[in-house]
Amino acid sequence: MMIQAQQSANAASGGLESALVKTLRTVCEMQRESVAARHAHKRIGLVPTMGFLHEGHLSLVRLARARCDVVVVSLFVNPTQFGVGEDLAEYPCDFDRDSALCQAAHVDALFCPGVGDMYPGGYSTYVEERELSAVLCGVSRPGHFRGVATVVTKLFNIVQPDIAVFGQKDAQQYRVIQQLTADLNLPVELVLGPTFREADGLAMSSRNRYLSGGEREDALCLYHALQTAQAMWGAGARRAADLRTAMESVLEKVPSAQPEYLEIVDYATLRPVCHITGPTLVALAVRIGRTRLIDNVILPPDE
Ligand code: AMP
Repeated sequence: MMIQAQQSANAASGGLESALVKTLRTVCEMQRESVAARHAHKRIGLVPTMGFLHEGHLSLVRLARARCDVVVVSLFVNPTQFGVGEDLAEYPCDFDRDSALCQAAHVDALFCPGVGDMYPGGYSTYVEERELSAVLCGVSRPGHFRGVATVVTKLFNIVQPDIAVFGQKDAQQYRVIQQLTADLNLPVELVLGPTFREADGLAMSSRNRYLSGGEREDALCLYHALQTAQAMWGAGARRAADLRTAMESVLEKVPSAQPEYLEIVDYATLRPVCHITGPTLVALAVRIGRTRLIDNVILPPDE
């Protein structure tokens, strides 16, 4: 009711969007807001997103909300992390919906900068993490993590958060951000939230919207493959090759699934392991039709 009233008021005043949550559209505005919050000794929590929010994003907002006085969600479809031929132009967006969801989740501010503000003409500085970025998604998406590292560093500098919350669904991204935060001595505490899933197990993702009915069904193979690995590990299997073979046979049963990678790697180094002992990331990227999906589980260390 409230939302509708606000939207009609905006429409009546000629506004195209509902100003439900305080929305900061420029780097300057956001910096002013952060400086004021810090002067008031408020703890700032940042949840960086590319928008088209779902429950997975909102679960991260709740983690930030529980730890901070001021929660900032950034909505920015960062062009530098998309490669040629990727889905930058089609990436879904719905500001009014995102704003309403953030309002309901008690977000204090939405930061939605323009591309020209983040990367003005003459922009020439990039942040590159070189080890963790070179494997898994970094192989098929060259330059992706350079874009991620650059935008996250910029967001940290602009928002000056005390904590920043990321999702396990993008576990490699989290490891890259952990590394750059340590290497560049960035004064921000990182928090990792668990992967939020649909009732049937599919990891929530803005890209799930690309899936047709049949593809949505087929997309479950990522979760099923991970569950298979987890069950084998739970039953005592420790040879990575055995888990891999079992996962591959789950994927093979789904003709529309084209695996891009399926890796069992050390969580710290992201390098393949033969024998599973320490914290281990089981990660896969699979194309279902034209949609590229990723998912993972983290196996804890043996006692
Ligand atoms: P994105 O908007 O897809 O760039 O994601 C923004 C943040 O939300 C990243 O830290 C993601 O890892 C996180 N995220 C995306 N999907 C999920 C999910 N299903 N569960 C938890 N976090 C997620």
